[in-house]
Amino acid sequence: MNKIKVNPNLKIRKESFGCIVLDLSNKEINFYNKGAFDAFVILSKEVSYNDFMSNYKEEDLSFVRSFVENLKSSGKIEDSTGLDNDLYPDFYFFQENQFHETHFASPLAVEIEPTLKCSRNCTYCCYESNPLVNTSKELSVTEWIDILISLKDDGVFSIKFTGGDPLIKEGFFDILSAADDLGFIITVGSDLTLFNESHAEKLSKLKNLLMVQTTLDGSNPNIADYNRGKGNFKKVIEGLVILRNYNIPFSAVTVVTSNNYNDIYNIGLLLEPYEPLGFDIGMLFDSGRAKEMNKESFPTIEQIKAATLDYSELINNGIVNSINKAFTFNLEKLNTNQLTDYFLEQNRIQKSPESQLRIDPMGRCYVSITLKEKLQDDLYLGNLTNMSIRSIWNENETLNSLRNLSTSENHYGKYFYLNELKGVKS
Ligand code: SF4
Repeated sequence: MNKIKVNPNLKIRKESFGCIVLDLSNKEINFYNKGAFDAFVILSKEVSYNDFMSNYKEEDLSFVRSFVENLKSSGKIEDSTGLDNDLYPDFYFFQENQFHETHFASPLAVEIEPTLKCSRNCTYCCYESNPLVNTSKELSVTEWIDILISLKDDGVFSIKFTGGDPLIKEGFFDILSAADDLGFIITVGSDLTLFNESHAEKLSKLKNLLMVQTTLDGSNPNIADYNRGKGNFKKVIEGLVILRNYNIPFSAVTVVTSNNYNDIYNIGLLLEPYEPLGFDIGMLFDSGRAKEMNKESFPTIEQIKAATLDYSELINNGIVNSINKAFTFNLEKLNTNQLTDYFLEQNRIQKSPESQLRIDPMGRCYVSITLKEKLQDDLYLGNLTNMSIRSIWNENETLNSLRNLSTSENHYGKYFYLNELKGVKS
């Protein structure tokens, strides 16, 4: 019988519960238990099927057989050709035995802000981005590439480039191409104001691009440009045409305000022909520049309900998909009141730092913009130009205090209520 082995394109991270596996061939991340991790270790070198099965007790054989079949059908295990015996998957934290219950061994995903500069000056920008932002202290392309190498060595699997608009950063495509070569799965967030065919051509050549994410706040210029500035609608639609022409996967999000709450269904209909991977909505958040906005701009509960109802109809009618995990699983089962509660709750909770960090244009790590106003000076946890992400992740006092708050769990993992923050160092 043929010998089998793990597909060398996998990346495998040992964790307290077992392991996390990134399959670069389909850009999927899956979680496995300890038994599966042990199997991946045995199968990291070619082994005959019978020799592999001899590791298991009689009563477990049927389960292990179907586990192996599943891994084979998903391409994670393959018949060994004998030609690639010296190619192995990347294993991380393989030798470690001490793991924390509150968080992963290292961040699984990071959001990188290569610059805060942006062509737009949206009234609600959380990041205070604008065309004139001072970029003199932002890291250079070379510094970012050094950081990417250390993130790879520390087992980070997924990167979202955001900002500001990453496309405005000089040399951004050199950073992107380095991230691609290092084997991260990549998302690029952009308002598409600068997006052009030359960008699309470069994006279409990336091996590991998951998607481009953009924002569309209305189904016509009057609504879409209201908070995002003149010309936004036109630029996004032109960008969507280019994305579709180059077969670049993308998703769009609408920030729901009192101005567009009743336009959600039309936005979904407008997006449909461009075949987005997904369409999401989020409520206007009281953060960054949005703090200065007129209170009437924020959607009322009735308006949130109306937006939610339209959104769930869009998904249930198959017009667009949701890529929001909470909805992917639950949308058909949740009624509008429950969905409205979900959105209202988002303003009161914060995801516990168990799997992700954000990195600002100077290389400083922080948890989220939501905590920016709450933690003030303690917002920044350490700088990647002189510290590794693993040391920040595991040793920073503020992070560990946040993890010790009492948490609940939803589809995104653990979260805590922001009013619990009183006890955290600040
Ligand atoms: S496009 Fe995004 S980053 Fe730029 S100003 Fe608007 S909200 Fe901020």
